[in-house]
Amino acid sequence: MSDLPHSLCVYRQEGLAPGPRLLVLGAVHGNETCGTRAIERVLGGFERGERDLLRGSVTFVPITNPLAYRRGTRSGDRNLNRNLRPKEITADFEDRVGNVLCRLLAEHDVLLDLHSFTAPAAPFVMVGSTDPRSIEWRFAQRLGPQRFVTGWMEVYEAGVARRRRAGQQLDDPGLLDAGYGVGTTEYMRSCGGYGVTLECGQHDDPETVEVAARAINNALDFLGLIEQPGRTDAVAATAPEVLRLTEVIDREHAADSFVSEWSSFSPVVPGELVARRHDGREIRAASSGCIMFPSRLATPGHEWFYFARRES
Ligand SMILES: [Zn+2]
Repeated sequence: MSDLPHSLCVYRQEGLAPGPRLLVLGAVHGNETCGTRAIERVLGGFERGERDLLRGSVTFVPITNPLAYRRGTRSGDRNLNRNLRPKEITADFEDRVGNVLCRLLAEHDVLLDLHSFTAPAAPFVMVGSTDPRSIEWRFAQRLGPQRFVTGWMEVYEAGVARRRRAGQQLDDPGLLDAGYGVGTTEYMRSCGGYGVTLECGQHDDPETVEVAARAINNALDFLGLIEQPGRTDAVAATAPEVLRLTEVIDREHAADSFVSEWSSFSPVVPGELVARRHDGREIRAASSGCIMFPSRLATPGHEWFYFARRES
């Protein structure tokens, strides 16, 4: 037996009447523990009989990547939230977790995946659609945060297509596979369900646990699984701020550099200089919007940062 974890801890509260099946994930990234703490709190309420489930079911996985969690790192062998699909031949720890996770996702209707991030910023929801008719968009607006980011899979696929056209030599063949962009929410949608990633705030900020716990309650309330006293948190976002990802920029060379200490949501104006390639070529913002997910540690051939445009 290796010292790698061999199991996942899964808790479920089953309603006695039929209804929607909600899955709540914490610590898909091992150093993002607000979801774990929030799940523990909500579970405690069920265990002590302080709350009840009216119908349907809610399943909690407080530590979805136990290897990364144990190490206090984002990933174990690799990022669990990429290239997520069932695999007959498993090559790493995340492949083995992925096989259990895909089965769990397929057994549920709705996913709430709880994360946190490095820089100080307001919480936001990563959502697949902002179409007013979309149930996923209505769900996302009820969770609490007022800021939404959309368009990730489209931009990811366009980035893969560009890498293919460029014919780059890459260390990881997954970088040429659009399926590599599939994480928990994308896999959930592929099974016919819907789901969002909630980025609750900065790692280790205690407020992120509050954001995550409110979102779990609001999700249960939206789905009619509980009756939430007061319902003050459960109103839809009144003035949603929507940012649409428009382009992913790969790092080409280790000496490619940012001209500023960008963080997610740093605003940019059209034509603003953002970064320089190692050979002096400039990367400028094409339109008004912001920088998203800048990664100073990105290695050549990998995602370096994204541009996003403000939709509302
Ligand atoms: Zn994360």
